[in-house]
Amino acid sequence: MASVTLNDVVKIYAGGVKAVDNVSLVIQPEEFIVLVGPSGCGKSTTLRMVAGLEEISSGTISIGDRVVNDLPPKDRDIAMVFQNYALYPHMTVYKNMAFSLKLRRKELGLSRADIDNKVREAAKLLGIGDLLDRRPKALSGGQRQRVAVGRAIVRNPSVFLFDEPLSNLDAKLRVEMRSEIKRIQRRFRTTTIYVTHDQEEAMTLGDRVVVMKDGVVQQCAPPLEIYARPTNRFVASFVGMPPMNFLEGAVHREPGGVYFDAGPIRLRLSASLMEPLATYRKDALTLGFRPDSLSFGEKSESPDVATLGVTVTLVEPLGDRKDVYLTAAGGHRLVARVDARAPVDEGCDTEVMIDMNRVHVFESGEMGMNLCSPTQDEARARAS
Ligand code: ADP
Repeated sequence: MASVTLNDVVKIYAGGVKAVDNVSLVIQPEEFIVLVGPSGCGKSTTLRMVAGLEEISSGTISIGDRVVNDLPPKDRDIAMVFQNYALYPHMTVYKNMAFSLKLRRKELGLSRADIDNKVREAAKLLGIGDLLDRRPKALSGGQRQRVAVGRAIVRNPSVFLFDEPLSNLDAKLRVEMRSEIKRIQRRFRTTTIYVTHDQEEAMTLGDRVVVMKDGVVQQCAPPLEIYARPTNRFVASFVGMPPMNFLEGAVHREPGGVYFDAGPIRLRLSASLMEPLATYRKDALTLGFRPDSLSFGEKSESPDVATLGVTVTLVEPLGDRKDVYLTAAGGHRLVARVDARAPVDEGCDTEVMIDMNRVHVFESGEMGMNLCSPTQDEARARAS
């Protein structure tokens, strides 16, 4: 399988929109990489440039050792699956899947029996073996998406490209097809680039996740690293549901320890944060902590657990867990995701515990850098 390398890739559309701004990525052979970000962040444009459907303004894209900037899509050895399936309505499922192979049968050195085998094998793998004679209009959304995936599989490409392939499906089917796509990618080990705006889809599918905003890669890392060590506040808030809690405030160093003050709220930071924060302006910072780093119940004696008085405004049961919405002093709103049995009810005044070993401190602003988990580049820049 092939690697895909993007080197300083820029896309400026006619009219001047800079959709992709100096993106550099090395996607390893067999890797499943997911591009994720809010609408308009440039993920589809990036994918379409790899596919050859969009010209590159500057930079290079290589598939394997070959620079493909000027190669037409059909010569790139890729197969793309679109959100709208793009099936031929007048052809049966069988013909839809066989079409691209038949077109290039001689060039690929395939017999008719080879094509038949490939189509039937892929159809079986996708559970659509009994639908081969149907036309797309007689299929459900999920079945159509399977045909679109099947059509990509039979071509046995070096790279799969998926552009929001599950967006048109209902929630249950989306989860089902998500694991199907992952299973297929694991089986064929085809290098895959997958675009979605859904952070949960990105986290569950990707070997690595690339978070984009305004055409710029914000972070590229395995999903759990993005969750545990987001590079900036934007990534921290985009990944994870419910989203991370944020408090705006300042850090104060006192004989008893280092504190984060947000109006009437004062939280003692753990000793491990002292060193990363030592070189920073201490005012105008943002404290961030995930809903699952909050808990209720017996008070902890640990110095790294802070306690905060709160009122419970809403409890959303999720079966095994629940989301608990809280208001703290100063009107600060927080959310906790806790075990369903946690002793909290709507309307009660209680104390919430915060695991201070899991908090993050960001520079102020939407893009504020995470001072607790600097990337290597940032760490180098800081040291120099
Ligand atoms: P995403 O896939 O992340 O939603 P896109 O890559 O589709 O984002 O778009 C990135 C930016 O480029 C957006 O600002 C969008 O409006 C702009 N854009 C996309 N396609 C075109 C086009 N054909 N012409 C001009 N601008 C475009």
